[in-house]
Amino acid sequence: MQFSTTKAEELKQGCCSTQPKSKMPCPLCHEEAKGVLVQTLEHMLTQEQLKSLSCLDGFYYCKTPSCQAVYFRGKEVIKQEGLKVIVGLKDGATPATMCYCFEWTKERIKEELLKSGRTQALGDIKAKMKDPGCSCEVLNPSGGCCLADVGKVIKDIQKMI
Ligand SMILES: [Zn+2]
Repeated sequence: MQFSTTKAEELKQGCCSTQPKSKMPCPLCHEEAKGVLVQTLEHMLTQEQLKSLSCLDGFYYCKTPSCQAVYFRGKEVIKQEGLKVIVGLKDGATPATMCYCFEWTKERIKEELLKSGRTQALGDIKAKMKDPGCSCEVLNPSGGCCLADVGKVIKDIQKMI
């Protein structure tokens, strides 16, 4: 009886911690970061990296371009080497993918802006989000929607050209 109660409590609590809801500062850049889903990590991390972790709960995603950390949990940091996909948001990434569902890169946005002064990126992404729909949870390293990041990138590139 005692044993089964303990076992049930263990299952309820999960192996490490519960899914993060609040923001946490990155141990490397000290910027606030959002929590990331286990499902996202399962799709993003290399087999080697996955094997080295006993559990995927409680990780956060650092979106600071100049910061080497992609995911962290406390002092534990996962960098680009631990991921299967290139994190386009980080400085020096090639391709600098911003929208993983519909393949918009900084390069493609810049090319359009140079050619015509406009880019279809936001319109195209918004239209495709409705149909066929997006899979940010498993395709985007952030695990979330890219629209805010794409909007920022367009403004940044417009300032530069
Ligand atoms: Zn950071």
